[in-house]
Amino acid sequence: MSEFASGTLSAKNIHLSFGSNHVLRGIDLHVPQGTTASVIGPSGSGKSTLLRVMNRLIEPDQGDILLDGRSVLKDNPDELRRRIGMVFQQFNLFPHKTVAENVSLALRKLRKLSKEEARSDALEQLDLVGLKHKAESRPANLSGGQQQRVAIARALAMKPEVMFFDEATSALDPELVKGVLALMTDLAKGGMTMVVVTHEMGFSRNVSDAVTFMDAGVVVESGPPEQLFTEPRTDRLKGFLSDVL
Ligand code: ADP
Ligand code: MG
Repeated sequence: MSEFASGTLSAKNIHLSFGSNHVLRGIDLHVPQGTTASVIGPSGSGKSTLLRVMNRLIEPDQGDILLDGRSVLKDNPDELRRRIGMVFQQFNLFPHKTVAENVSLALRKLRKLSKEEARSDALEQLDLVGLKHKAESRPANLSGGQQQRVAIARALAMKPEVMFFDEATSALDPELVKGVLALMTDLAKGGMTMVVVTHEMGFSRNVSDAVTFMDAGVVVESGPPEQLFTEPRTDRLKGFLSDVL
């Protein structure tokens, strides 16, 4: 059994417009519990917007979001956001707080833990990402890769059922990408349910269980990595892969 809580996530026929810009045009994405879905596609295709709709930072115009088979659109959005951990390209750490405080802050606010409990949970998560020794440092004294691992520890400390990554390695210097991808790979292999928007084709191909290729607000192809990477069916995916590989 997985060490993580349950969490099968589905998006069904999601539509969203910003004004006259129809950004998501009927997206379906099914992420079974304990699997990793990677989402690839050109810039502007709607990948970040899809993640934001799936954790209800934005309400869809049409469609449904299900967690463990149950629609969540009528629930309080804050509840879903607690169940889904999110990691962005920019780490968004508080610069004036220590690493430990950055991780424990949300635990005190959202999980209502005492200061001591929050700190002990925070140190435990930092240990898991290999950064317990940096607990009393400020973010600026860490490398970008270490800061991103702190951001991941902060998300994991909330005990999410699902983790979202939105180009988590895109802002990192090339030599720092590996450590963050290794941590994401450990999480995936450990049974976390994950949706990973990425330009790292190696991760998509070798770690994710399923790949979704989006372009211009639609899912153009989806399936197992070996199928999409070795036998792309559409010119759009062939063109994308020849640009990025
Ligand atoms: P991707 O993550 O694949 O690069 P995005 O989801 O960021 O794509 O953007 C998809 C489209 O939605 C783009 O045309 C972008 O300009 C537009 N868009 C994204 N966020 C907003 C917003 N908050 N307001 C208006 N338009 C937006
Ligand atoms: Mg994006």
